[in-house]
Amino acid sequence: MAEFTESNIRKRTDEGRFKRGKEYRWEGAVKDRVCREGNLEASVQGSYPQPYRVSVSFSDEGIKSTSCSCPDDYYGDCKHVVAVLLDWLDNDDEFKEVEPVEKTLEGRSKEELTLLIQEMLEREPSLKRLLDEPLPGFSGSQGSTETVDRSIYREDVRNILEGYNGRGDEWDVASSLESLVEKGKRHLDNKELGEAEAIFEIVIKETLDLYGQIYGHESGEIYGAIDNAIDGLIECLKASPKKTEVRKEVVDTLFWVIEWDIDFGGIDIMNGPRRALLESTDTEDRERLRKKVIEALKSSDESGWRKNRYGTFLLELCELDGSREDFLEKLEESEVKLPKIEALTFLELGQKDEAVESAREIDGSLDIKRVADQLCERGYGEDARELVSDFVEVDGDKRLKEWLVEFDKRNGNFESALEMEIGLFRSRPNSSKFGQVVRCAEELGKGEEYRLELIDELEEEGKYNILAEIYLQEEKLEKAWEYAKRYEKSKRFGNCNRLKEKIVEAGKKEKPERAVDFYLDRVYDLISRRGRKNYRRAAEYLVKVRDIYEEGWDDLIEDIREEFDNLPACQDEFDKAGL
Ligand SMILES: [Zn+2]
Repeated sequence: MAEFTESNIRKRTDEGRFKRGKEYRWEGAVKDRVCREGNLEASVQGSYPQPYRVSVSFSDEGIKSTSCSCPDDYYGDCKHVVAVLLDWLDNDDEFKEVEPVEKTLEGRSKEELTLLIQEMLEREPSLKRLLDEPLPGFSGSQGSTETVDRSIYREDVRNILEGYNGRGDEWDVASSLESLVEKGKRHLDNKELGEAEAIFEIVIKETLDLYGQIYGHESGEIYGAIDNAIDGLIECLKASPKKTEVRKEVVDTLFWVIEWDIDFGGIDIMNGPRRALLESTDTEDRERLRKKVIEALKSSDESGWRKNRYGTFLLELCELDGSREDFLEKLEESEVKLPKIEALTFLELGQKDEAVESAREIDGSLDIKRVADQLCERGYGEDARELVSDFVEVDGDKRLKEWLVEFDKRNGNFESALEMEIGLFRSRPNSSKFGQVVRCAEELGKGEEYRLELIDELEEEGKYNILAEIYLQEEKLEKAWEYAKRYEKSKRFGNCNRLKEKIVEAGKKEKPERAVDFYLDRVYDLISRRGRKNYRRAAEYLVKVRDIYEEGWDDLIEDIREEFDNLPACQDEFDKAGL
């Protein structure tokens, strides 16, 4: 086995975890030490009653990988792994050499094995359930497409999940679920489709039913088991012959996952099932699925997001079997309304009027925008404009107003664009909108006229900060500075250092003395507030001062350092900044 030293172990983690690991080791927390085929296994008693399980594997170069059942998933080894590695370093003879499990079992007689299993079941009675479950390769159902009794597995999964009552044993629950899923995959390898399907289905359904409670608390281990079961189910779909009971079950469960995901609000586990149901089904499967989607649509609430997800899936299913018309018919028959998807589908079919009619029932501005963009792309700009503008009248949505402005500008209708731009500016004055208004007015030869009018308005309303931003944008720095100061005076609290900084930065070539004054003010202000972070920022401003200063810098920095020689942390930050 490869050599390693304490310093190797130290490098694999951070100082804190290394120290705690060392303490654990000294406290004698490392137990059940075995060395199986050159790899280490041990348990470490942590803060939970249940000890954590650590394993370490080696390669010729040294430690190959380590794992621990604790929740610590930061980069590097956890304290338990550190404890085991240190223990091995000092005490490798305490790790009992054991042979691989298969080898131990191989030499035993049937009688011995029976006794052994009985003993194991006495120790861990919950495993009795396994006796009821068929073994992969021995279920006798090879090649059968009958479904099997799910209740055995349901009990098993419920018992596993019952163990989940906090972060501490998440790993146990996840690994029990994983081993059940692995069993399902072995059934699948043996073409025992019924058993495989039942295991995957039950793991998925029972665990997801609980997922609402654990969501956000679990670290992803349990989610990983669900994901594997879903993959297994997708394999089942590919392996199961058409028109069989098993196949129906598989299709139904995959759709169940999609429904669960949409109802839960989207944790994105539906993509695998969705793709599988589109790629690996036949016409008959899809016919059944379409009915299910329509049912789901009818019973889902008014939420546009949910309906749109079902609707998109329905459309994808219909397209596979030939037609978008079919999709529209299905919706009509079932009296389900999906205005955006319908509108886009009509457009695809070249039925513009029907598309506009459907779009008028849309109630979200993003959806309107989407349809309007599509209308424009197909040369129905005027229809798009009318649609958006009617919607804006009711809804007043800003993004749609911006859409109208862009549309009008593109089509040379600057009068109308300007009117809307001014409206948008007045509802939320800011310098960038100001620039857009002026540029739009320039197209009509009225740039300066509107510029002055809006500046007067801002002046009257005392919006000096916006005026300062506008002048800064126009590179009229003296005016900008003047308004920044007026703004600061008009405010009872606070300052406008960020704005002032932008102005002095922009003008530091022409007005270096103003920049230096401002930076030094900041330096004194920051230092007076004390603390490393403030000293560091003060040092950054001093660097700026040095860059501007030509003569006299040495005297200045000497004075400042002397003034604060009672603040070692501050001096330290100055040193670090190379001042
Ligand atoms: Zn650990």
